[in-house]
Amino acid sequence: MILKLLIFAIVAVMIYRFFGGQLPSMPKAKSKEQKKIEEDTLVECSKCGTYVTTKESTIIHGKYYCDECAGKL
Ligand SMILES: [Zn+2]
Repeated sequence: MILKLLIFAIVAVMIYRFFGGQLPSMPKAKSKEQKKIEEDTLVECSKCGTYVTTKESTIIHGKYYCDECAGKL
C-alpha cells in the first residue's frame, strides 16, 4: 500500500515536472512573438521622414533615425 502511494507520488511529480517544464516556455514564446511584431513596427526617421522598421532604425537621443541618416550623424 505504501509502495503504491510512493509510485503514485513519483508519477505525480513526473507529471508535474513535465507540465512545469512546458508551461513556463509558453509565455516566453509569446514574448518572442511580441518582440518580432515590435521589430516590424514602422517608425518615422526624425531627419528625412522615411519610414523604417524599428529593427532597421537607430535610436539616437530617444529619436528614431534610418540607417542612412544615422550614418551621417
Ligand atoms: Zn533618415
